[in-house]
Amino acid sequence: MSTATAEKTAPLQWNYAPAPESVDPQFRKRYDLFIDGKFVAPAEGNYRPSINPARETTLAEVADATAPDVDKAVKAARKAYTKIWSKMSGKERGKYIYRIARLLQERAREFAVAETMNGGKSIRESRDTDIPLAAAHFFYYAGWADKLEYAFPGRKAKSLGVCGQVIPWNFPLLMAAWKIAPALATGNTVVLKPADTTPLTAMKLAELIQDAGLPAGVVNIIPGGRPTGAAIVQHPDIDKIAFTGSTAVGKWIQKELAGTKKRYTLELGGKAANIIFEDAAIDQAVEGIINAIFFNQGHVCCAGSRLLVQEGVADTVIAKLKQRMATLIIGDPLDKNTDIGAINSKEQLGRIEALVASGAEEGAEMWQPSCELPAKGFWFRPTLFTNVSQSHRICRDEIFGPVLSILTFRTEDEAVEKANNTAYGLSGGVWTDKGAKIFKVTRQVRAGVIWANTFNKFDPTSPFGGYKESGIGREGGWHGLQPYVELE
Ligand code: NAD
Repeated sequence: MSTATAEKTAPLQWNYAPAPESVDPQFRKRYDLFIDGKFVAPAEGNYRPSINPARETTLAEVADATAPDVDKAVKAARKAYTKIWSKMSGKERGKYIYRIARLLQERAREFAVAETMNGGKSIRESRDTDIPLAAAHFFYYAGWADKLEYAFPGRKAKSLGVCGQVIPWNFPLLMAAWKIAPALATGNTVVLKPADTTPLTAMKLAELIQDAGLPAGVVNIIPGGRPTGAAIVQHPDIDKIAFTGSTAVGKWIQKELAGTKKRYTLELGGKAANIIFEDAAIDQAVEGIINAIFFNQGHVCCAGSRLLVQEGVADTVIAKLKQRMATLIIGDPLDKNTDIGAINSKEQLGRIEALVASGAEEGAEMWQPSCELPAKGFWFRPTLFTNVSQSHRICRDEIFGPVLSILTFRTEDEAVEKANNTAYGLSGGVWTDKGAKIFKVTRQVRAGVIWANTFNKFDPTSPFGGYKESGIGREGGWHGLQPYVELE
């Protein structure tokens, strides 16, 4: 029986005057495909509106690439690879990548506004995290371009050729940077497809790449949906596929590529456990939990969507969490006070609603603050579930929304066992006062990234990637160079 409640909570404890961001994102009315250094119309002439999920208004029309466009982009990338990019010295390649990084830094505010308008995330997130990190990735890999002999001492790092790259909607520009920067630094050329709901910062990046004077065809950006992605995966003249997205699509890609010469990396879903021990700094941990799951609307593959709390502090943590959740500001993503922006699309909102309904149906107890939601756009209140069992769908499936499932534990062993009781293995968190416990527990939790007394911290020098159904391969850091080279 459902025990769901949407409890009334005290209204916000404070109010701020509105502080909307006013920079113009400089959108064109219409974006064509970026192939061979030029913007060109799609072969079949299809365009789709790209919307603002907070207002349900159209921001621009964006070309929809089909198989002939994919072929054209691959041919341009092959020509640029053979004639120019693979022959250029690392030092020269690095100069171009530095130029992209610097231009992005100069136009960071404009890109942040564009990201927020197209994706729905709060301006604080895109201004302070997405765009600076994207620029940092270009800077970092620019530095490697002329140092590959030091990255792989005694070996020769040969580029692979043309890379097909497919990315999701949750960090549109950052994922593009994670893909493009290491590929270029190692001497490969690129055909990149952004997600169909968030192509605009990738198209602005195409303009910026033109401004940087990158040789034509080195980077090709072709927006589109599932068929476009599939055409990239299946194109016979691509040497490597780099995919970030759902586990279901990742599995399909793996099957498609089996038996081919194509290399691949897959960065897929997650269901991270955030473990709070009794000896943790509780207020700090509560803030960490909020950051781990509610900021960025929970649209984070490594979100701490399962909270494991030691029994002795469970009541305190849950009470403090509810108190803090009641103060979160949901609304206009362009307002600098906003904590939680819009859900990326109507479809994603539907998926979150269905999974949340299953939680209530399966007997978990739901709680939400009673905050107001804007009348237009796609919104979801921050939500927590208690009385959760490990067999509940809300505890097993990736919700990809601001929804937290809370479980308790008594011993370290029980915490580790519950943390690992998932098909995923992307990330995790441990909160404790004891350094020895951090080392002991993090060694046993099977996840690619584990934070201690913090969460969701990224750095271009640090590798990122998962175990089990969270994927194959690493992006970021020195590790992120390896999938783009053949070592001789
Ligand atoms: P998705 O798999 O539906 O789509 C991802 C991208 O793949 C999109 O560009 C989409 O158009 C394309 N695509 C869809 N079907 C395809 C196919 N058959 N062949 C080729 N391309 C195809 O995922 P999504 O809903 O856009 O993104 C959310 C998912 O991404 C979540 O599962 C999240 O955990 C994951 N993610 C993982 C990481 C990571 O680093 N591990 C980072 C961000 C997001």
